[in-house]
Amino acid sequence: MANFDHLSAELDQLRVDGRYRPLTVWDSGSDTWMVLNGRKVLQMSSNNYLGLTNHPDLKKAAIEAIETYGAGSGSVRTITGTLRIHDDLERELASFKGTEATLVFQSGFTTNQGILGSILGSDDVVISDELNHASIIDGIRLTKANRKIYAHKDLDQLEQRLKESGSFRTRLVVTDGVFSMDGDIAPLPQIVELAERYDAIVYVDDAHASGVLGRFGKGSTDHFNLHGRVHIQVGTLSKAIGAVGGYMAGSQLLKDYLIHKARSFLFSTSQPPSVAAMCLAAIRVLKNSPELTERLWSNTHYFREKLHKFGFDTGQSETPIIPIIVGNPAATMLFSDALLAEGIFAQGIVYPTVAMDKGRVRLIITASHTQEDLDFALDRLQHVGKQFSLI
Ligand SMILES: *Cc1c(COP(=O)(O)O)cnc(C)c1O
Repeated sequence: MANFDHLSAELDQLRVDGRYRPLTVWDSGSDTWMVLNGRKVLQMSSNNYLGLTNHPDLKKAAIEAIETYGAGSGSVRTITGTLRIHDDLERELASFKGTEATLVFQSGFTTNQGILGSILGSDDVVISDELNHASIIDGIRLTKANRKIYAHKDLDQLEQRLKESGSFRTRLVVTDGVFSMDGDIAPLPQIVELAERYDAIVYVDDAHASGVLGRFGKGSTDHFNLHGRVHIQVGTLSKAIGAVGGYMAGSQLLKDYLIHKARSFLFSTSQPPSVAAMCLAAIRVLKNSPELTERLWSNTHYFREKLHKFGFDTGQSETPIIPIIVGNPAATMLFSDALLAEGIFAQGIVYPTVAMDKGRVRLIITASHTQEDLDFALDRLQHVGKQFSLI
């Protein structure tokens, strides 16, 4: 009889490698302090950069949208699933991003799949940073275009790839705006210059830059003042924005094309109205609350400087994503467990997600961490860091 023995064999191997991880089930909502097995722990690994998962405006918008529109949208966008609230969200987002148009998808993941899977053909080439997010890699798997990889942020190699690509109809360079494992920022001005020199399209995935980089959290294009020079910006509504969803910000032409061709857009039901309403409310909160991103960054600078003073290795971090490099996978997971025992949740990230000797706990600082929270975390990190001889 047919069976799934190969699955249990793979899971057994994960157990042997110490990489088998059951899901952590939280007994409270996404917040700065969360309840785990009856204990309150400080959350240091959530993408809830601005604390918007609990913002009263978002909650109110969701409740009102449910009362006005009901629970689900009933269909894909192209049939009956485009409600006024979806259109309002896309207009608000376009005005926020300063682009001609935006198109909302169900998640950042499906946004990359939908765009990369549809806009290129076999005459084209996509040139991708080796550390780009899984959703970009999978999006590229869906395209018939030729594929080239350049070493992480290596502009000489990027130029080489562009030089080799003169004979293709379209060249597209794709990069994360902020890289999720190291918290470093893509050299977007130099990428844009190279792309302009070699007549290439620039595609930046701002999942970890949305609500984080740029004025009011408008993203990396705004951060580097590259308005009008980045053809495709992808954002997520799932991280700093506090709900779930993703979007393309770019030209009306691109939006029209994606509405007709992007398969993850065409063949999957649109966001529930309550979700679209929360996203819309969140963008309005961002526009009216510059203090949120200011606090995010002052918390980040304070925390990282203290970690450096203690002697921790925080890798390439230059954003609120702050890895603490521990080393081998087993030590990394023990360090994470020891922090949890002290009341701090800091997710361990190990091989093969990162190099074998670069296991780390990945901290994410948020605007909603208070001074007390940060000092508590620093005190415990220093204590456990010494136990582990990291400092
Ligand atoms: C998280 C992430 C995504 C996926 O976004 P979701 O909205 O969670 O699906 C896409 N790209 C990058 C770079 C990310 O970090």
